[in-house]
Amino acid sequence: MEVFLGIDMGGTAIKLGLVSREGKLLKSFQVPTRAETQDRQVIVDNIKNAIRSALGGWEKVLAIGIGVPGGVDKKHGIIRFMPNIQALENYSLAEDLEKSFGMPVAIDNDANNAARGEYVFGAAKKYQDFVLITLGTGIGGGIFIRGDIYGGVANFAGEVGHMKLVPEGRTCGCGLNGCWEAYGSATAMIKRAQGLVAMGKKTSLSSVPEINAKVIFDEAKKGDEIALEVVEEVCHYLGIGIANLIHLFNPEAVVVGGGVSQAGDFLFERLRRYTSLYTKTEMFETCTIVPAALVNDAGVMGSAALAIMTLEHWGK
Ligand SMILES: [Zn+2]
Repeated sequence: MEVFLGIDMGGTAIKLGLVSREGKLLKSFQVPTRAETQDRQVIVDNIKNAIRSALGGWEKVLAIGIGVPGGVDKKHGIIRFMPNIQALENYSLAEDLEKSFGMPVAIDNDANNAARGEYVFGAAKKYQDFVLITLGTGIGGGIFIRGDIYGGVANFAGEVGHMKLVPEGRTCGCGLNGCWEAYGSATAMIKRAQGLVAMGKKTSLSSVPEINAKVIFDEAKKGDEIALEVVEEVCHYLGIGIANLIHLFNPEAVVVGGGVSQAGDFLFERLRRYTSLYTKTEMFETCTIVPAALVNDAGVMGSAALAIMTLEHWGK
């Protein structure tokens, strides 16, 4: 059996998973990232120890794939910017790990890897041209053209969450105004709902312990008018952004992942309806909007998919 190691690095935890070529998650665990030490050597040693634990007892691991929340020079295996783990910026992490473990190591942005995961194991297996968006704290994106990620000149392409949707609009986490994710992410949904509760609107959301995207969808499904207003507004903005992506790339599919995608048909029926309003008919009809297949382990599975695709292209 061919086995690959997928690593999903976040600001607080590093998740590792051994994945078979067929997409079976054989072993997984996580360790703290130790980003707070801001010490490159400490963090790199920590990663190496975790990899040693993951590889222990598995002789047939063929390659390692790593996903990070940042911009990556994939060709050279160097992370160019990563606000949550700055100590690893501008360091040849892939080369270091290749020397230490004697196997191919590839690094890329985590949203690009999420798209690879859907392509190799998930909802995009039958597509060559598709766009993946992940709806969570922000909106991430990965663009597939002819069976591979489109990276642009520096491999930073696919930052769909920062497409400008509203001139002089809401301030985004990136510091600019009017970005898509300031209107269509879970964070945007929660802020909007909290605002309506604070205005004294009559809604069941005012009595829940914590407002999150799932609660908003659940209350909307039960018929709460304010929760439904928030859902409709967010789906409206999501539809505009998806329409923009369809016009740009003419994809076979838009695959929607991230926690919010768990809301099911209630979400997807609205996404399709709003997208259709803003999309040229012929283009809408040739594009399907579908949920991602990988949710809980999307990070490690996506990184394992990067390892598989890297090995396939190795030496070519
Ligand atoms: Zn932004």
